[in-house]
Amino acid sequence: MKNFDTCTAFHTNNGAFLGRLVRLDDVINTIIGKHQYPKDASAVLAESIALSALFSSYLKYEGLFTLQIQTDGAVSLVVVDVTSEGLIRGYARYDENKIEKIRNPNEKYRIQDDEILEAPHYLGGGQLAFTIDQGPDTELYQGIVELKGNTLSEVASKYFEQSEQIETFLQLYLQAPQNEDDNWKAAGLMLQKLPSHGGKEVKSEELDKAWEEAVVFAQSLKKEEIFDNSLSAKDLLNRLYHASDLVITKSKEYNFGCRCSRDKVLSTIRSFPPEEVEALQEQNKITVDCNFCSEKYVFDKGEFSTH
Ligand SMILES: [Zn+2]
Repeated sequence: MKNFDTCTAFHTNNGAFLGRLVRLDDVINTIIGKHQYPKDASAVLAESIALSALFSSYLKYEGLFTLQIQTDGAVSLVVVDVTSEGLIRGYARYDENKIEKIRNPNEKYRIQDDEILEAPHYLGGGQLAFTIDQGPDTELYQGIVELKGNTLSEVASKYFEQSEQIETFLQLYLQAPQNEDDNWKAAGLMLQKLPSHGGKEVKSEELDKAWEEAVVFAQSLKKEEIFDNSLSAKDLLNRLYHASDLVITKSKEYNFGCRCSRDKVLSTIRSFPPEEVEALQEQNKITVDCNFCSEKYVFDKGEFSTH
């Protein structure tokens, strides 16, 4: 198992919680490399990808998980999707002038060039929504939370507390490249408290205490540790939970993957009303760029005209 681009599910034998650890490297860099975003927008996208991996690993599904953040801020849209096979892709929309204003709010103050603010500064107000699509004849599952919080971790934790009513610890980590050869890295750690089962073997006060301890240990994990290439997920989790009988239940790998194709794009164009197809044309050609992977598709009139 690789040390990065994986999700590791774990718990401890005291039955207090279920946990997930996600660490991403190549997947993030491949996705960011497909776009030419300013680093502030790349940072928001990278953190959103780590959050998507965490969210989707917690939900059981066969199909497609999509995270969508829509805002009135400098980064106005983030879309990330994760298939149940672990293929991830994503993109963002942003306003360069608004980003510049955030970096340089007045003449006296400008943030350092290597500094990146927490995601909510770039996002502003709006919503974070996710959907799970398991194909035709299944119900679309959807969750929404307002973008309220100082960090993206806080926003996401609120979702679990409000909508799922599960006590949750959720922390995202981000490392921007320090030089040209360096990579983006993003990671996330999530713990969810398990309900106690009416005082059978373990009293609920003991479980509460075990949960609180688990959170304190999780908070002790440092950014340098989570991004240390030489440490496996097992090494990291053992540092936190060796004293409470750590059990690693499963690991999953992620890869970049875009599902766009020439055929899919063409059938979308053909489904448009004739006047819209007309409006898309330039010199008898239609050019479409995939938002997710920036692949360019060019079609001749003979291909898209249906008559
Ligand atoms: Zn694509």
